[in-house]
Amino acid sequence: MNIKTTCPRDCYDACGIEVKVVSNQISSVSGDPDHPYTRGSLCGKCTLAYNGAFLDPKLRLANPLRRVGDKGTGQFETVTWDEALDSISAKLKEITDDNPAKILHAHYTGTCSLIANKFPMRFFNKLGATEVEPDTVCNMAGHIALEQLIGTSLVGFDPRTSKDSHSIFVWGANPSATAPHAHQYWLKESNAKIIVIDPVRHQTAEKADLHLQLRPGSDAALAFSLMHVLIHENALDEEFIENYTIGWDELLPKVLLCNPEWGAKHTGLKRDDIIKAAKIYAEGPSLLWLGQGLQRQRLGGNIIRSCAILPAITGNFSKPGSGLLYLNGSGRMGVDADYLTGANLSKDVPSISHMDLAERLENKSESSAFICWNINPAVSNPEQERLRRGLARDDLFTVVIDIFETDSTDYADFVLPAASFLEFDDLVSGYFNLSFSAQAQAKPPHGQSLPNQEIFRKLSSFMNFPEEELYESDEKIIEKTLRDVGIEGGFKKLKSIGTTWPTDEPQIQFPEKLFPTRSGKIEISSSVAEKKGLGRLPEPIVDAPTTSDKYRLISPASRWLMNGSYANDDRVIKKLGSPEVIINPLDADRMGLHKGSLVSLSNEVGSIRLTVEISDVVRPGVVMSYKGRWPRQCLGVMGKNNVNFLNPGTKADMGESSAVHNIEVSITPV
Ligand code: SF4
Repeated sequence: MNIKTTCPRDCYDACGIEVKVVSNQISSVSGDPDHPYTRGSLCGKCTLAYNGAFLDPKLRLANPLRRVGDKGTGQFETVTWDEALDSISAKLKEITDDNPAKILHAHYTGTCSLIANKFPMRFFNKLGATEVEPDTVCNMAGHIALEQLIGTSLVGFDPRTSKDSHSIFVWGANPSATAPHAHQYWLKESNAKIIVIDPVRHQTAEKADLHLQLRPGSDAALAFSLMHVLIHENALDEEFIENYTIGWDELLPKVLLCNPEWGAKHTGLKRDDIIKAAKIYAEGPSLLWLGQGLQRQRLGGNIIRSCAILPAITGNFSKPGSGLLYLNGSGRMGVDADYLTGANLSKDVPSISHMDLAERLENKSESSAFICWNINPAVSNPEQERLRRGLARDDLFTVVIDIFETDSTDYADFVLPAASFLEFDDLVSGYFNLSFSAQAQAKPPHGQSLPNQEIFRKLSSFMNFPEEELYESDEKIIEKTLRDVGIEGGFKKLKSIGTTWPTDEPQIQFPEKLFPTRSGKIEISSSVAEKKGLGRLPEPIVDAPTTSDKYRLISPASRWLMNGSYANDDRVIKKLGSPEVIINPLDADRMGLHKGSLVSLSNEVGSIRLTVEISDVVRPGVVMSYKGRWPRQCLGVMGKNNVNFLNPGTKADMGESSAVHNIEVSITPV
């Protein structure tokens, strides 16, 4: 029997999947040949992990576990669900009687299907726990910047509109790793000119018509220089600026100072390439894809705000082939996130940033319990040494929900086994393509594992919570959500086709030219932002270059890992090879390093050892090491550390968000 389902990972592609089931067992997981973007093949990492670790009973957690050894050692005994939930609820009640805000919960995008990702929030809203704001570990600066400028970060272009585009600018994203099908099909088959702006010459950049390999942290300077050229090319849409934006006249004097020579000096690019890119954008209609990596910098909010002015001054909104994309939120489809998360139950407890999590966990007066679901913070968070100290506290009651043992479960008092996406029904809303899909159960949950949502239903019951929202069934939630999105025929029909597109034709971004800001216009200058301390205008500012003995370390996504997932799969581990740092040949020569040399990277928070790979995919002065390895898999060269051991948790300029690409390190041969 073949079952159609959908990949619920944190990925632009939202692939259709075909699962072959023989005698109630999954025999293979592959791409759905009927899905127009997946075309029968999943990405490399999912092909390996879904047919490997996800199906491996030796790796999957099968039962609730209770700690029997020291924290951090991962020694547990098996307990029943009732025993685990009885102890957990008793402890949570005790803390709640004192101050429920001392219960911290962290989550992110381990499983992005709607119910598994959002329903647990109902429990925490009711509890009054402190949420570690999920997007602060990833993309919050960009969200804040775009909300301020155009009123939302969650209404992007519809990729299908590219058939009418003259150019597609991909800025600070690496589709070849994070949107492999968009790289392989959408970009490749487009007639538009592809311009990639990125400090790394990744595979999408290799194939682009033009790659601007700028200095990290100089993106705002490039945006201002592009605006300068657009003025001189008479490419501004004066009618659009006049009627649908506010503040261009205020920004103009700053733009006029940023000619391409100035831009070249600050970005490290050639003046002529800046002019060439601006001319291509000017021809329009143009699409601008702003990646998540772009804003993981100290000035990330200002950068996004600066880049996003390009479509505003050229009228690249509200017509076929034009627009900007950061993300397409599920709300755009009609999904009611407040309903799914039980926002009505919220006690308005202020959230904290992931950048402050380690400090908060170290502080006994501010944290008594820590619950993690859909996240593996011992891989993904900054200040790893400090985080481990906090997690090792004997008086911190920690519960971790996962489908595998991880570095984070090693610190738990209780580990609760989650079902994988192959084991329960749910819905998936694409955040790039405007697709809506079924996640269909292909087999019963492994062992005693349960879907996230069922774990929190049970826990609500042990807490004696009376609210009926906490017990609403998946069937009812699916039924209502399909109604909200306007999909007819129910879940059965959706499962039979896998994926549907709620509209046949490409949707126009902001078709009425009405932007959800306070003024209804794009707010290039903003008194609201000024009052919040975000600056009235974006600024043409750049990071200072590193000194000669320091290197800027960037840690982007590997094509073999999915954020903090998959690093426990044997075949993925093999593909990853030895943990390495990629260094430009000029820098390697200067330091006397060769391919395979062992080096130590160090800064104020720690040091790690890596083997050297030499390549000009990075500029001189920039080094790169992929994120997402599990410390427990790095025992050899790196000494149970991963690249986040070098992340001091510096915040970006907006949203208390991660500035992980701003790390500076010294490199010494070992
Ligand atoms: S991670 Fe992305 S590319 Fe890979 S199978 Fe899932 S949706 Fe497709």
